[in-house]
Amino acid sequence: MGGVDKVSGRGNRAPLPPRECDFPAAGLSTRPHRSHRFGTQAFFAYDHIKKEEGPTSPPTPETLTLAIDPMSATLLCRDPFFQQHETGNHVESPDRIIAVNAAIADTDLADRCDDVEWTEASEESLLRVHTPEYLARLEAFTRDGGGRIEQDTVVSPHSYLVARRAAGAACDAVSRVCAGKAKNAFCLLRPPGHHALADGAMGFCLLNHAAIAAAHARDAEGVSRVLIVDWDVHHGNGTQDIFYRDPNVAFFSAHRWPFYPGSGRTEETGSGPGLGTTRNLPLPFGIAADDYLEKFRQSLETIAAKQRPELIVLSAGFDAHHADPVGSFGLCEDDFSTLSRCVLDVAGVHCQGRVVSLLEGGYNPQALGACVKIHLESLVSDQT
Ligand SMILES: [Zn+2]
Repeated sequence: MGGVDKVSGRGNRAPLPPRECDFPAAGLSTRPHRSHRFGTQAFFAYDHIKKEEGPTSPPTPETLTLAIDPMSATLLCRDPFFQQHETGNHVESPDRIIAVNAAIADTDLADRCDDVEWTEASEESLLRVHTPEYLARLEAFTRDGGGRIEQDTVVSPHSYLVARRAAGAACDAVSRVCAGKAKNAFCLLRPPGHHALADGAMGFCLLNHAAIAAAHARDAEGVSRVLIVDWDVHHGNGTQDIFYRDPNVAFFSAHRWPFYPGSGRTEETGSGPGLGTTRNLPLPFGIAADDYLEKFRQSLETIAAKQRPELIVLSAGFDAHHADPVGSFGLCEDDFSTLSRCVLDVAGVHCQGRVVSLLEGGYNPQALGACVKIHLESLVSDQT
């Protein structure tokens, strides 16, 4: 999209004055910690055992473990290696995930999630989405020392491996959620992915993690109908392009418009066998947050009713936050709780709550940390 600069954006104007919310007050209000995620379920499990078997003493820990629903777990995929994608003086920097980890460290959220090990995405996984020519060019470019691979996107010697490991996390999370080993997942990835095209890097993105995850669900896990939800402030043009003709993978994006990258009009609805499986919700700068949230819910429910997804992959960008230097769309961190709830409600209706959430944008590290903390709280607490 020559000539359109992602950082300044198209149609960018001064940000709205912040709404009434916690950020960036001197300290975010401390939310009361909820009970450990297994607490309530363990209680009911014990109650059930008493009724059925009438034990006179509490069950052993082994009994409780067996009684716990494995679908209740949230995966949290993090890796210090993601900091090795070095971008110099750039808004998409390692500071982003460092800030998120710091925000989470103040809570018990990580303790309430499952940590998992995974490997980099296989070549087969990448080739479902990207051309072999692009993958070879990206690998060679980074091996030769990196630099600016397109106007907005900087890569360093480790960037290809970092992106490939990030894509691996997304695929692994899909497999675990599809296997019932977890109910949902959050992958704290970088670089972001939703602008990446089949044959090129774009807009800070190298590999399209959401697309790779959805294609993995479709081809490796036998998921017939996937829905990708993208609430990043920018339109997920790469993801849309990749599945534009695919009826198995629907795509819904809510985004600021007109804005970078310029796509995402309402009229873009898919083509051929994929006609009707793309839904765009372009939103004007200055829209009231409540109006945005209501439109988001309505549009999401509409396409979900049509697609009846078995899995939702979420491109979770947080650059619609009012303090974001790139997106600045007027949302508060609490609005991301509402967005999270919308997605989880739809997942509860259609796919037993199965959501794999992948970090996309969000370029004010402090705001990003606050938003991800709230989003992760929603995932962990989901009882649908
Ligand atoms: Zn974005």
